[in-house]
Amino acid sequence: MRVAVLDTTKKPLAPTTPRCARLLLKSGKAAVFRRYPFVIILKREIEKPTLPDLKLKIDPGSKTSGVAIVNQQTGEVVFAAEIEHRGYAIKASLDARRLLRRGRRQRKTRYRKPRFDNRARPEGWLPPSLESRVENVYTVARRLQRMYPLKGVAYEMVRFDTQLMQNPEISGVEYQQGELQGFKLREYVLIKFYYRCVYAGADSPCDQVLNLDHLVPRSRGGSNRASNLVCACRKHNEEKGNLSLEEYSKLRGVDFAAIKAQAKAPLRDAAAVNATRWALFNRLKALDLPIETGSGGLTKFNRIKREAPKAHWIDAACVGESTPENLKIEDVQPLQIRAVGHGSRRMCQTDKYGFPKAHRTRKTTFCGFETGDIVKADIPKGKFAGRHVGRLTAIRQRPSFKLKGFDVHPKHLKRIHRSDGFNYQMKTVG
Ligand SMILES: [Zn+2]
Repeated sequence: MRVAVLDTTKKPLAPTTPRCARLLLKSGKAAVFRRYPFVIILKREIEKPTLPDLKLKIDPGSKTSGVAIVNQQTGEVVFAAEIEHRGYAIKASLDARRLLRRGRRQRKTRYRKPRFDNRARPEGWLPPSLESRVENVYTVARRLQRMYPLKGVAYEMVRFDTQLMQNPEISGVEYQQGELQGFKLREYVLIKFYYRCVYAGADSPCDQVLNLDHLVPRSRGGSNRASNLVCACRKHNEEKGNLSLEEYSKLRGVDFAAIKAQAKAPLRDAAAVNATRWALFNRLKALDLPIETGSGGLTKFNRIKREAPKAHWIDAACVGESTPENLKIEDVQPLQIRAVGHGSRRMCQTDKYGFPKAHRTRKTTFCGFETGDIVKADIPKGKFAGRHVGRLTAIRQRPSFKLKGFDVHPKHLKRIHRSDGFNYQMKTVG
């Protein structure tokens, strides 16, 4: 692990070792600029710094995303973090709000005509829970760009390769056939057809068991390629048997032409186009860095080849073709970043029936502190005497702020990190 260094004009320099950072701080040549991630700022300007080739690598996930900064020349993981998203919390709070509003509106049941259609969604709209995941990763990436002299981004864009040359699961004869084969094939086809039988119809209900069905049957020279495979239930699979798609179409009296087109289209265009991944990719363009994309298969291949254990940040470090051969992941302490949001916008608290109970003031800082600030408390006496470090969880009317479940007077507090929408696991870095 390395410590990020800025010069006095806040220009990011080559990150340094924790030991060196300690010496700089001790000799007064630098000061602490930021606590999480740990950044120091030099007290002089560096004219022409030599900068290493650092790449920011991102492995987006639905609950947790991995982030790593890798020195491309030495293979050293300079920084690693895992971002825990709050998609479910957002959904829960929106559901709660909807419930309250619905209850309120239904108290007067007179019909009211909609006044105008104001429910249009803008281009590229994402549900708030997904939008927050995209924003979380982008925010962290943007902040890291200000701390480390990044020269590029590597991003895991898709789950499957459709190029399939790099797919680690392919070997031997199946590899020779070219297209996605092996044990990933089944998953690929199932996802592509949304885990639903393509021959389902109102006239004939489906079986529970899902199989792969060959559009052109094997007995008639049909291949094992993904473009010849569809997802079908056992019943329809057996019913189709040796028939071609056209013959089966006639037998059932249903037009199955669209299935053929969908089977021919690669997954990327057909189904599991992960909306969030694309949205984040487009957002990352704003960093103005060259972006390299990789697939999930390649990430796994890179990780297994380097005999690295499975972790979100290690996956991130293994994203993309440019992953260095000798990735140095020993002694790396990943920073645990948890998205906690910026508090609620709600100005009025309601009781369980939806009636207003209390109104909040517009003020968000009190005695210079804010909910979410990471503070250090030195309590001289009493039950909780001693030093405590933690996140302020509540601010009370009286000057007594809540920290780790007990109240502390603000005169004993010292802020070490301003609230920024994230919580950082308390690990002493550097
Ligand atoms: Zn079926």
